[in-house]
Amino acid sequence: MHRPNDAPSRTSRAARPRAVTLPTAIALLAAGMGLTAAPAGAQDGGGVSVGGTTSAAPATTSAAGEAAAPATSAAAVRSGAVLALGSKGSRVMALQRTLWQLGLPVARDGAFGAATEVALRRFEHEEGLTVDGVADAAQLAAMQRRASPRVQERGFASRTLRVGSVGTDVRAIQRLLLDHGVRVPTHGKYTAAIRTRIRSWESSASLRADGVLSRSDAKRLRESTPAPPPADADAAAAVTAGRATSARVGADGYTFPILGAWHWGEAGTFFGERGGAHQGVDALADCGLPLVAASSGVVKHNEVQSSAGNYLVITDTPTGEDQAYMHLQARSPLKVGAKVQAGTPIGLVGRSGNASACHLHFELWTAPGWYSGGKPRDPKPDLTRWASAAGLPAARR
Ligand SMILES: [Zn+2]
Repeated sequence: MHRPNDAPSRTSRAARPRAVTLPTAIALLAAGMGLTAAPAGAQDGGGVSVGGTTSAAPATTSAAGEAAAPATSAAAVRSGAVLALGSKGSRVMALQRTLWQLGLPVARDGAFGAATEVALRRFEHEEGLTVDGVADAAQLAAMQRRASPRVQERGFASRTLRVGSVGTDVRAIQRLLLDHGVRVPTHGKYTAAIRTRIRSWESSASLRADGVLSRSDAKRLRESTPAPPPADADAAAAVTAGRATSARVGADGYTFPILGAWHWGEAGTFFGERGGAHQGVDALADCGLPLVAASSGVVKHNEVQSSAGNYLVITDTPTGEDQAYMHLQARSPLKVGAKVQAGTPIGLVGRSGNASACHLHFELWTAPGWYSGGKPRDPKPDLTRWASAAGLPAARR
């Protein structure tokens, strides 16, 4: 059995988050060592892994890198010409959002604090840029280009892949294997297990089963891939077409978020497992089943991230806790700021992001909420109660 693989890749270049002090992180960077630090408290619920591509490094155009220019002048920061420690506002928010999309989660509060600086320095280190923790407009624009899904696919079929290969092109292959119904992790590493899967595919495609993926093999794999999951519009249509209308709400105003048969997973899918990196619990269910809001609330985030996939965060719930729903099949049709009630359709069960099985990864964060000062707590007792009230107890396996 495969468990939903939304944990950080154990072996990825971006090591699992662990708390370090900012000076320690900077010292590691300065020493040119492989940095394995992440912002304290920035453990992504869906798991974090940084794409391993080297094909689209942003241009090194930071003004701070010019000869004789001071690294950052306080005036430049105040004027907003550069983003650095102490900067505030919508451009900081844009930077934080981009860092998140690049697999470096930070609070998106528009305040450039120590955690944002560590994440930015880590990005600069990995991309071979001047590691100064400062982003000017050109660097921010380059980072945004780098974070776009189209660019993350760049490099596909540009080299032969074999055991040992690492990169977003490997991850793209892993996603294609998933689309073929082959359950593999999407950590971007061509492991012996991936070679075995590729051999099987090569046999089925009447290719030489050498477990080495040539450029033409990669293209062939892509061409033979079944239709992709529905686009946002299709998901919206499915949701609004009334496929999700039967949520039974309990006396406490909560319901179970999956409308259909589901079950708990194996070890590693529960709260606090994987060395504390798993900040929610996984409920396994078929892809395409409707998801509904567990309670009333307001949509706080509706985004895509490399590990969490398509995800939604709902705030202003009856208990004041934030709820996170991850790995949706497509983007939720709900807009940020939209009000929901218990049972409002929010999307479909999927396996987007770093997930090898169809499931809902669900998190509950104490007030003031998700990556804004709250803490994750174990949602299993609540889910169990809501499922029972909704008449959808976990299936036995
Ligand atoms: Zn999970």
